[in-house]
Amino acid sequence: MDDQDDAAPETFAFGYQPAPVRVSFGPAALAELPRITDRLGLRRVLVLSTPGRARLAAAVADLLGDHCAGICAQARMHVPAAVVEQVRARARDNSADGCVAVGGGSTIGLAKALALDPGLPYVAVPTSYAGSEMTPIWGLTEDGHKTTGKNPAVLPRAIVYDAELTLSLPVVTAVTSGMNAIAHAVEALYAPDTSPFVALLAEEGVRRLATALPRIAEDPSGLAARSDALYGAWLCGTCLGATTMSLHHKLCHVLGGALDLPHAETHTVVLPYALAFNEETAKRQLAPLGRALGTWYPPAALQNLARGLGAPRSLAELGMAEGDIDRVAELVVSQPYANPRPFGLDQARTLLRRAHRGLDV
Ligand code: NAD
Repeated sequence: MDDQDDAAPETFAFGYQPAPVRVSFGPAALAELPRITDRLGLRRVLVLSTPGRARLAAAVADLLGDHCAGICAQARMHVPAAVVEQVRARARDNSADGCVAVGGGSTIGLAKALALDPGLPYVAVPTSYAGSEMTPIWGLTEDGHKTTGKNPAVLPRAIVYDAELTLSLPVVTAVTSGMNAIAHAVEALYAPDTSPFVALLAEEGVRRLATALPRIAEDPSGLAARSDALYGAWLCGTCLGATTMSLHHKLCHVLGGALDLPHAETHTVVLPYALAFNEETAKRQLAPLGRALGTWYPPAALQNLARGLGAPRSLAELGMAEGDIDRVAELVVSQPYANPRPFGLDQARTLLRRAHRGLDV
């Protein structure tokens, strides 16, 4: 009998809950929006965006014509409760029966708050790669404290992915947002609730993004690369919505919450270090990542990819003071968190020190 006959066949077991969300993907998919809101029975739609995307919000309002109940271009990072309150009042005054959220994670976060209370359904039109539209996770910040929760009611009713809307993403923003998406796929691979299906999505999502980002940098106006990146981001967002995130997301959540560091840039800097920490322990689960990147050592491949395309290199560059390392490390270990390799205060400090200085992984 040879070795293969001796080896027990691998078995697996998992749970998976697909999001009940219709996705429209394609160049010029935005043109479908009026039909989508119509099908959902929405007649008075509030258009949400950040101030930076106000012109796009106005174009969306035009597209909706009589069915637009107003534009609120005041979404901000971390969903401040005061902004939610203003937009809620506007929705009430204008008798809005739904929203369209055009923008990145900040705008979709605002739509999620309105989906929770007063329960307005919404269509997401993502213009970055953050992936919030694929998750039941909501957040709200009040008096400097961010509360988060999980509720399927905050998922959009439909999503429109139109790569033309991402052409305006500056190259470095596309790169950091893309690395943010890749981080979802990485942690989904070793999540406690991962599955072979999620691993397929993660591998293809990373492959698409890692090959698209250099092409975007080379030719920012190329629609094919932007489309590939957006498709990869959707796959990675699906991974995020389907699994429980680990050390990397915990580190970024604390750095964003406690020090107000920028979201996508923080993910970009921290990912190689968090991955290097987990790599040996989770080698088998991470095999699809190596295949997607064509490397035997994914932490260095990701660090080189981001740095080669002009992304920030260290937490110091993002504005973190060296004196904050201990406080952040304490916050990171203050609550138990799923992670393939156990980590304590010393490991958290060492990892943060390396990321702060931007050392090679
Ligand atoms: P963002 O939405 O704040 O966008 C960053 C900036 O980029 C904004 O000024 C925005 O106007 C601009 N922008 C967006 N799309 C653009 C485009 N196509 N062209 C030019 N500029 C554009 O940032 P983000 O990285 O998309 O999202 C980060 C936020 O989302 C964080 O607050 C994070 O916590 C949250 N988030 C939540 C989840 C979740 O599951 N709840 C998941 C991921 C991110």
